[in-house]
Amino acid sequence: AKEMGGNQVQYFNSQIYAKIERRIKLEKHMRKALERNEFILMYQPQVDLLEKRIIGFESLIRWDSPELGRVSPLEFIPIAEETGLIFNIGKWVLQEACRQNKQWQELGFPKVTIAVNLSSKQFYDHSLKDQILNILKETGLEPHYLELEITESMTMDVQVALATLNSFRNMGLKIAMDDFGTGYSSLSYLKEFPIHNLKIDQSFVKDISINPTNAAIVNTIIALARNLKLVVIAEGVENENDLKLLQEFHCDMAQGYFFSPPVEASKVPDLFANSKTP
Ligand code: C2E
Ligand code: CA
Ligand code: CA
Ligand code: CA
Repeated sequence: AKEMGGNQVQYFNSQIYAKIERRIKLEKHMRKALERNEFILMYQPQVDLLEKRIIGFESLIRWDSPELGRVSPLEFIPIAEETGLIFNIGKWVLQEACRQNKQWQELGFPKVTIAVNLSSKQFYDHSLKDQILNILKETGLEPHYLELEITESMTMDVQVALATLNSFRNMGLKIAMDDFGTGYSSLSYLKEFPIHNLKIDQSFVKDISINPTNAAIVNTIIALARNLKLVVIAEGVENENDLKLLQEFHCDMAQGYFFSPPVEASKVPDLFANSKTP
């Protein structure tokens, strides 16, 4: 614009420059992060609303970098995908999640599923199936205690997605559709895909007790899931009023800050012992 003075141009340039600089820094340090053991997994409980107990945990990655501090997956996963680093990071996540779940079982805690987020690069990687088979063998975890979270956008190539998901099902793995409602909703394919769980995105779950539009959407997704014989999980449950409404809607499971934020592995025994239940 003609009224944009030299100072503003410089301001925008320096903002763009700062972004590029941050991006280069992240990429540089991320290349060393795996071998330096800088990634950790946090675990967030998934609660069964009828049985009133924890039946699963979602694993959520964090990067604790000595140079950059704690970096959110929202920032570094997209860069890991662009650079291809996601393949090794994703493999580490699967290994660590399966190892940890098996360890909890051996310590005598109630058996739970461990959910792992897959990136679409991983999902379309032909070696993923053998990688998972190897990890299950090495860790000794039974396949039905591992759940893979995929998103709607990953299933755009319907034929390939269907073949991959069917082979996962034949391996005995669980599959969850994550962030449901935010993507390209191929509702007609949903019933063709061998999916076990439908996770309603937190943007719809938020404030359902005071937001009638969100409440109507969530109620409808729950009814849809039940019709398709899917287990439905509400994500991002932050307060008791929202939880009560979810129970009225016959939602199967819930996850969110109301029960617990994601915690490190050492805090999980406490959650098993005294978790907040509905
Ligand atoms: P997501 O899979 O949808 O994970 C849910 C996010 O919501 C997590 O953020 C979680 O900490 C947060 N959350 C949980 N309960 C609540 C709540 O009650 N209220 C609110 N406002 N938020 C809640 P996080 O851990 O920062 O992860 C962000 C995203 O990064 C994840 O979204 C997922 O897409 C991605 N991600 C995380 N870990 C991995 C991983 O190991 N691999 C891949 N490929 N992606 C990952
Ligand atoms: Ca997820
Ligand atoms: Ca989600
Ligand atoms: Ca999400």
